[in-house]
Amino acid sequence: MVEQYKDRKKQNSLELRDQQINALNNWVRLLQKALTVEAENGFKNIHGRAEHFNSFLSREIKEFKSPLLSNEIDKKLTLFAKSFDDYPTSDLPIKRRLIIDARQLLYRLSKEYQIKDIPSPPKLRMSDSQSTANDIRQHLRIDSPLGEVKGVGTKMCECFAALNLFVIKDLLFHYPRDYVDYSSLKRIFSLVPGETTTIIATIRRSNSYTSPRNQNLSILELHLEDMTGRIKISKFFIGRRFSKRSFLKKQESLYPKGTIVAVSGLVKGNSYGKSFNDPLIEVLEHKQALLKSQTIGRILPIYQLTDGLKADRLRQIVHSVIPLALDLEDPLPVNTRESLSLLDKGEAIKQIHRPRNQEYLKKAKRRLVFDEFLFLQLGLLKRRLELGKCKAPSLFINKEREGFTEQFLKLLPFALTNSQQQVLTQIESDIAMSKPMSRLVQGDVGCGKTVVAIAALLRAVESGWQGAFMAPTEVLAQQHYLTLCKWLPQLHVTVELLTGSTAAKERKRIFADLSNGNLKIIVGTHALIEESVSFRRLGLVVVDEQHRFGVNQRNLLLNKGLHPHLLTMTATPIPRTLALSIHGDLDVSQINELPPGRTPIETQLMPSSERYQAYEAIKEQLDIGSQAYVVLPLVDESEKLELRSAIDVYHELSSEILSEYKVGLLHGRMHSSEKKGIINKFVNKEIEVLVSTTVVEVGVDVPEATMMVIDHADRFGLAQLHQLRGRVGRGTKDSKCILIDTAKSLASKNRLEVLVNSHDGFEISEIDLRLRGPGQVLGTRQSGLPDFALANLVNDETILESAREEAEKILKSDPDLIQNKLLKIMLDDYWNRLVTKTQLN
Ligand code: ADP
Ligand code: MG
Repeated sequence: MVEQYKDRKKQNSLELRDQQINALNNWVRLLQKALTVEAENGFKNIHGRAEHFNSFLSREIKEFKSPLLSNEIDKKLTLFAKSFDDYPTSDLPIKRRLIIDARQLLYRLSKEYQIKDIPSPPKLRMSDSQSTANDIRQHLRIDSPLGEVKGVGTKMCECFAALNLFVIKDLLFHYPRDYVDYSSLKRIFSLVPGETTTIIATIRRSNSYTSPRNQNLSILELHLEDMTGRIKISKFFIGRRFSKRSFLKKQESLYPKGTIVAVSGLVKGNSYGKSFNDPLIEVLEHKQALLKSQTIGRILPIYQLTDGLKADRLRQIVHSVIPLALDLEDPLPVNTRESLSLLDKGEAIKQIHRPRNQEYLKKAKRRLVFDEFLFLQLGLLKRRLELGKCKAPSLFINKEREGFTEQFLKLLPFALTNSQQQVLTQIESDIAMSKPMSRLVQGDVGCGKTVVAIAALLRAVESGWQGAFMAPTEVLAQQHYLTLCKWLPQLHVTVELLTGSTAAKERKRIFADLSNGNLKIIVGTHALIEESVSFRRLGLVVVDEQHRFGVNQRNLLLNKGLHPHLLTMTATPIPRTLALSIHGDLDVSQINELPPGRTPIETQLMPSSERYQAYEAIKEQLDIGSQAYVVLPLVDESEKLELRSAIDVYHELSSEILSEYKVGLLHGRMHSSEKKGIINKFVNKEIEVLVSTTVVEVGVDVPEATMMVIDHADRFGLAQLHQLRGRVGRGTKDSKCILIDTAKSLASKNRLEVLVNSHDGFEISEIDLRLRGPGQVLGTRQSGLPDFALANLVNDETILESAREEAEKILKSDPDLIQNKLLKIMLDDYWNRLVTKTQLN
């Protein structure tokens, strides 16, 4: 133990000295460079980025401290600093002399302290084992069952099946979800804690012991050295049987003194210096020996695993079948690949599993992401083309007489904004045509999309057709139904509500009225499309908050053979590129102004310690006759998360803090009639404070509510918070939103600040996308894209654009993909996978 301690101390001081030398080295170089530049520029006392040459030099010399510098040198340097203060006013010969002297001193320093360049990184000779593996292609094919691969037994087949992997091709398309990069080779001196890396070094000493505190833990320590420094490696053995002296001695003997090893791992750093814990190690016969390991010094793929499937095993199996990737046919012709500088498919698959280096990994990703985009775009564009061929009812407007729409607009207590009017006009011209409209209306929360939708639905009715208005939640469907009931009876237009909780008898009557055409407008949840609802003459379908539906749900209607016009609406706007990628089959229009008279919702961030202040603020609002929301992420307490829940807070507020006010509770687990009752009470002011989960996110429209407190705001996405906040500020009174941040981190605070500073839904969702990435914000479900491709959307817009262009080009010359058979097969396959995936969600 004593020896160990000494050794540690020695290593420490060695490292410390290394660091000091390094610092001095950097400093000397910096000054040398400045002096050279000044001399080259004719001693004009040039101005650098921040200051003049002389003040830079004088400051650097005064500030730099190093224990390596002797008193004598220190004194000399002080003199130099002084001389440089006078530099600007000195004559040229004096300037020149000063610079020569300074250079000489620096040169002396660099010699004296043996400032050395860190030697270039070591080299590793790695084998390309594929040469032997190639014979796998003689007895296996790309669609052979995985069970036929050497080393894969029934057990493993079951594991693969759990991951939806059945044939070799599936495995090749099972892309890594991440990588560990051991490909950078380094000298010990330049190792940085936290990095993964590879070194080549010589064993100086090895020893092993069983932890005195834990007999189950035995440790082998190797002390390595290269020409630049030393480092310790610890290998851990867990289990009693490893504590045997004989076992540990044997381990030591595997690494005798003087042996050369290659080591890959994560560099740790603590007060005892740098080390590797349980790295990958291979003993090399000599420095240039060929490495046997297939992991050391490489970029290792990390796969999604399942119980019973070990990372190493999976890596080996994938590795063994990679040669078969060469048999994959490439759906893209050579000239396309060349013009877009894309790798060929087989090579891309090979590099994604076993990247030669970071550059190849990037190339491989680019190619595979391109394919994902291409198939998605092909599918969307193709559907658009096909849709264009379908016949839709032409909902023609008779401008001569006043229609339902005009009457409705007259009834409204306000005029449409310009933006609303423009979008409505656009919709009207779309639905007047005999090809089906597919339009997405994006507009910030509160911009008034509902009235536009109603106006459009009434156009359908006045030209003799029916309309359907679909919402993602019962609450919202109910709200829309109430809104419609406010206006339609006055126009003698019939409207009904159909949701999962509509009673059977009622349902039957509605079905009958829809199919005989007596019922003109139906509002509901996706019960509308999933059940065997048949319409007499369905002319227009409006899908509200379409981001809440999956890509495929909105197309269910079309698959049922219906070709009404389709209007979709969302308050979660997304940037153009992203919109193109996931709504490539839709035309997009925007309502980009809010109705007049709205004051921005004053938004405030509060730490949880100030929560009581938020409740005080609620009281103030209630006392002047307003209403308030308190929003929480959970219904009731959860074992895993220490969060305040809606039920807890409801009890707390109603029995204590706000006991003299009328408090209500609303959450998604309530029965829908119960929900309905609560919302009605809130609308009628029988409830003053509504404690709720995010079920209020869409659909509750109570202009008297002017205050919202969102607890655990850090648990929500920005776009969602913005949408929630949009529940207040619906009237003309000033409104307020308090976000309680319980995360206690700067990152969370900064993120939530975005809402304090911005009220623009587009801006907010763009920031949200940048912060959380589209995978988090949109999810596979909405976008139809795998996370892997999604991740690239924000970073690599150009690839999406080129995929889209390519898809357009292909379909233009070959709309049914008759000449591109392979592409057609792969496209069908792709969409099948997409549909099963989205259904599974
Ligand atoms: P969203 O676009 O978020 O769905 P809504 O359609 O629910 O917004 O409208 C929000 C509120 O604004 C409703 O109370 C609606 O009656 C009102 N509103 C809509 N258009 C106008 C307008 N042009 N002028 C004034 N108020 C309007
Ligand atoms: Mg809405």
